[in-house]
Amino acid sequence: MREVDPRRRVPRTDALLADPALAAAAGTVGRDRVKAAIVAAQHRARQGEINPEAVRDAALAALPVRTPRAVLNATGVVLHTNLGRAPLAPAAVQALVAAAGHTDVELDLGTGRRARRGREALAALAAAVPDAPAVHVVNNGAAALVLAATALAAGREIVVSRGELVEIGDGFRLPDLLASTGARLREVGTTNRTTRADYAAAIGPDTGFVLKVHPSNFVVTGFTSAVPVADLATLGVPVVADIGSGLLAPDPLLPDEPDAATTLRAGAHLVTASGDKLLGGPQAGLLLGATDLVERLRRHPLARALRVDKLTLAALAATLHAPTTPTREALHADAGRLRARVERLRDRLGEDGCKAEVTPVAAVVGGGGAPGVDLDSWALSLPERYAAPLRAGDPAVLGRVLHGRLLLDLRAVPEADDDRVRAAILSVEG
Ligand SMILES: *Cc1c(COP(=O)(O)O)cnc(C)c1O
Repeated sequence: MREVDPRRRVPRTDALLADPALAAAAGTVGRDRVKAAIVAAQHRARQGEINPEAVRDAALAALPVRTPRAVLNATGVVLHTNLGRAPLAPAAVQALVAAAGHTDVELDLGTGRRARRGREALAALAAAVPDAPAVHVVNNGAAALVLAATALAAGREIVVSRGELVEIGDGFRLPDLLASTGARLREVGTTNRTTRADYAAAIGPDTGFVLKVHPSNFVVTGFTSAVPVADLATLGVPVVADIGSGLLAPDPLLPDEPDAATTLRAGAHLVTASGDKLLGGPQAGLLLGATDLVERLRRHPLARALRVDKLTLAALAATLHAPTTPTREALHADAGRLRARVERLRDRLGEDGCKAEVTPVAAVVGGGGAPGVDLDSWALSLPERYAAPLRAGDPAVLGRVLHGRLLLDLRAVPEADDDRVRAAILSVEG
């Protein structure tokens, strides 16, 4: 065997700079930093610390990671909290970019005077829910609740059913969140049953408001009873309803999911919801309701700390004006159409010698919405060994692994991205 001097096999700097991944990195972090990373990696190879073949990857690894990495969501979970919930509509993306510079977010260009911050988004929200006399927007759904609790019930009581003291996810528990505001929780009823009389007995001079929370990530079945908003509204104290998902009007596909318009019409004085769930917009907390209550929230000192960014306001306004959103499209995608897309993907992969199968699956809404609702869907089924390389790709393709197979459900993948899914699969060495 002839021993080759390893130093001779270390790739040259100009060859490495021409590598597509390193060239792309030069575009984002600058050529000097990429060159420095290459030189350092070459040095390590000459010292025998790494193989000459590993120089490119070592240089890439030493560069600042490009975050966030784009993910094609083939999990079948339409609103995946770990994937950033709702993807924005193209119009909302454009609005974000347009808002990145100086904008009239808080200025009336006609008069040259200061104007209400984010008035376009607020006007769009008010127009989308004519039943709401007033609206306000904060950073997220949790912030909306915190603001309501602080402004309307600090040092007083929030009356809430024991069946509605939920954990939202990642250990965030509604009772802890509310207690952190200085309000006292007055729990009524039991886990499975709470009656109007339970609420009535707890109401007194210390009551700040009655809170109704939509159990958005679980269902209780069997011997259960909960009090509808319409009945709570007759108790003589303000009713705050946390509907969670952000549906502004009913969606026939999700009959059990509360919406802002119906909840307000039933008598809720204030509705809180998220912007990045079923509404399909940016992370935001929506507050809709009685003018006096909304004004108290808006004027509370805490409101400033929960103030929403100009980028979010721009994306929210565009989402509310858009005819549809990717979230809505994914939810309402026709199962037959999904099947045809998966079959086409299988056929085209087959032409390239990659064997995949087509299988029916159940997708879910996810992200704190419509628990227990299954959406008929279709997935491409591949051997499980595809899962890790697809997850590590750029874009990453995330599916779910079941019984030794990787299932790629196309429900939450825009049809325009089918070719990217195909290319990613083909890039995995079969
Ligand atoms: C999601 C959810 C929240 C929290 O909203 P974020 O926008 O995630 O802060 C609160 N309440 C309910 C019922 C929810 O579903």
